Amino acid sequence: MTEFPFALPDFEPGWVWLVGAGPGEPGLCTLLGYHALRTADVVIYDALVGKEILELARDGAELEFSGKRGGRPSPSQPNISRRLVQLAREGKRVLRLKGGDPLVFGRGGEESLALVEAGVPFRIVPGISAGVGGAAYAGIPVTHRDVNSVVTFLTGHASTGEVPDGIDWQALAKASPVIVLYMAIKHLGTISGHLIAGGRSADEPVAVIAKATTAEQKVVETTLGRCVADLAQSGLEPPAIVVIGEVVKLRAGLDWLGALSGRVLEADPLGLKNQSDTA
Ligand code: SAH
Repeated sequence: MTEFPFALPDFEPGWVWLVGAGPGEPGLCTLLGYHALRTADVVIYDALVGKEILELARDGAELEFSGKRGGRPSPSQPNISRRLVQLAREGKRVLRLKGGDPLVFGRGGEESLALVEAGVPFRIVPGISAGVGGAAYAGIPVTHRDVNSVVTFLTGHASTGEVPDGIDWQALAKASPVIVLYMAIKHLGTISGHLIAGGRSADEPVAVIAKATTAEQKVVETTLGRCVADLAQSGLEPPAIVVIGEVVKLRAGLDWLGALSGRVLEADPLGLKNQSDTA
C-alpha cells in the first residue's frame, strides 16, 4: 500500500486500472498512477511509457509490453483487450499503463468498453496529455487570454495510417487559432498545406516538440510554410507534437526550461505592452 495523508481508492484484485503515465518525465505521473504502480500485480504498458516510470512498479510486479517493437506491428487492439480481461479474471490487479492521457488518442475508450462487455470492473486515471504538458515544457501555453479561446487537438494519423478523413479544413483553419497535432510528423506537409489553403498564413508560428518533458526534449520553432523543410533538416525524431498558432510566440517569454540553461526570457513576447502604450 502506498502511504499518503489521505485515502486513495483500493486497487482490488480482479480490477483493471487504466492509467495515464503522463508525457515522459516521471514526476508528471499522478499520485493515483504511482499508487497503482506500487500495488499492481501486472503492468501492461505501451511504447510511450517512460522507462523510469516503469521502475516505480513494485518488486515482483510483472511487466508486459504491448507496443510496437523494432518496427514490428503491435499486438492488435482486440488482443490487448482480451489479455486485460484474462488477467483480471485470474484475480490480478491489472494496471494498463499508457503514455499521456489514456483517453486522448490513446484508445482507452475502446479498451474500457471491452472491459464493460466482459463485466470486468475498472477505473480510469487520467494523465497529463503530451499536447498540453509537452507544450508547457516548451514554454507554450495552449491557451492564452490575449491570443485564443479555442484550441483543437487533432491526430495526423487515422487508423488507416492516413490523414483522417472528414475534417473540414477550411472550417478548422477559420475557427481554431491554436491547433495541436498528435502523430502528425509523417503527414505534416499535407496538414500544413490544408491549413494554408484554408486561409492560414504561411508565416504563422509553429513549434515541433519531440520527446517532450524527457531529458531528450527538442524543440524546433518554425512556420506553417517552412515546417516540413525545417523538420527534415533538424533530424528531430518522434514522438513529437506540433503546436500551430500565435501562442508559440510566448515561448520567447515562457521557455522556463531554456531559462534553466541560460536563455534570457522576454517579459512581453507578444509585444502587447507597447501597443497599449501607444494606443
Ligand atoms: N495518449 C497520449 C497520446 C498517444 S498518441 C497523450 O495523451 O499524450 C501518440 C502521440 O502522442 C505521438 O505520436 C506524439 O504526437 C504524442 N506524444 C506522446 N508522448 C510524447 C512526448 N513525450 N513528446 C512529444 N509527443 C508525444
